Amino acid sequence: MSSLQLKDLYDGFRDPDVIKGYQKVIATDAQKLSRTINIMEVCGGHTHTIMKYGILQLLPENIKFVHGPGCPVCIMPKERIDHAYVLSQQPNVILVTLGDMIKVPGSNGSLQDARSKGSDVRFVYSPLDCLKIAKENPDKTVIFFAIGFETTTPMTAALLDTVIKEDIPNILLHLNHVTVPEPMRALISDEACIIDAFLGPSHVSVISGSKIYEEFPRDWGKPVVVSGFEPVDVMQSISMIVKQFIENRCELEVEYHRAVSREGNLKAQAMVDKYFQKVDFRWRGLGDIPQSGLGLRAEYDKYNAEKIYDAVLPKEEIDDHKLCICGDILKGKASPPQCSIFGTACKPTSPVGSCMVSSEGACSAYYKYGNLI
Ligand code: SF4
Ligand code: SF4
Repeated sequence: MSSLQLKDLYDGFRDPDVIKGYQKVIATDAQKLSRTINIMEVCGGHTHTIMKYGILQLLPENIKFVHGPGCPVCIMPKERIDHAYVLSQQPNVILVTLGDMIKVPGSNGSLQDARSKGSDVRFVYSPLDCLKIAKENPDKTVIFFAIGFETTTPMTAALLDTVIKEDIPNILLHLNHVTVPEPMRALISDEACIIDAFLGPSHVSVISGSKIYEEFPRDWGKPVVVSGFEPVDVMQSISMIVKQFIENRCELEVEYHRAVSREGNLKAQAMVDKYFQKVDFRWRGLGDIPQSGLGLRAEYDKYNAEKIYDAVLPKEEIDDHKLCICGDILKGKASPPQCSIFGTACKPTSPVGSCMVSSEGACSAYYKYGNLI
């Protein structure tokens, strides 16, 4: 049997006729629903697909979407961004992070601003790129400001694994990794929660396996369908959720079975467990969520930038801009156009809140594809 190719993940999954076919099925099935159902897409990648392909416009009135907290940039509280800013200003430090993190404003500005003031800030596509930077700059300390969900965590663990095995003396980590089930649980425990079902993330589930969602239908009465990223995937997953409601079922189903298994990538999970442990984490907009983050195990303290630079790192929590409603958006209580500065004072070129920074952020996706301003 030939192995899975990249094109197998999207071939045929953008076909307009198939999308229209699902639109009809969903419209017919939705007439049998006794009430409106609110589906939360947990993952920022799904938010992007939903907006890019106009999926909201293809759905009947009684199927609504709630945009969840699934973008690692959007959920980063300002004080963690301030950590990155302060670390970048330390003598002989090169601060390295992933993509959009560089643009998020903290209380002193963004990492981009820090760079314009002389800090050495770099962004990379893979944590392992830090190895080359460290080897080329032996007299500098490379601090990797690690962000992301279960998808990127194994790559940070692989970086640490190499640092230890190759005895590389000048790489430290500042961990900001978070996990998906805890905020899902926090959201549905909130009395104001309006979520009826979840569209489960794609990449996260490839690593963690679908097993991490089993509690949601079983213990919370919320169906989950793990969906691929393409528009056909999303339409098929919505259809699967609607069918569960009209057939009175409440289950975990996997639409993205071409890449997701129940167990996930056990090797990657073992690598993460070896170096990291669950810790409490404060989420932007959602507040403190117990055991929702990952920290370095104590035996790896000598690689922990948060411990080593503890004396200079700011400790206080910082509130968002008073007009920014990112928190309500991440909780699914509001949508971006309800923000009074959406598209005016806050745009992708001058973001006020984090949801406008990342392409996976709900505000940015609405601004780019929503045709609303
Ligand atoms: S990393 Fe992947 S799964 Fe996680 S939010 Fe981004 S797109 Fe979704
Ligand atoms: S538009 Fe900007 S200020 Fe308003 S909620 Fe979104 S990110 Fe925050």
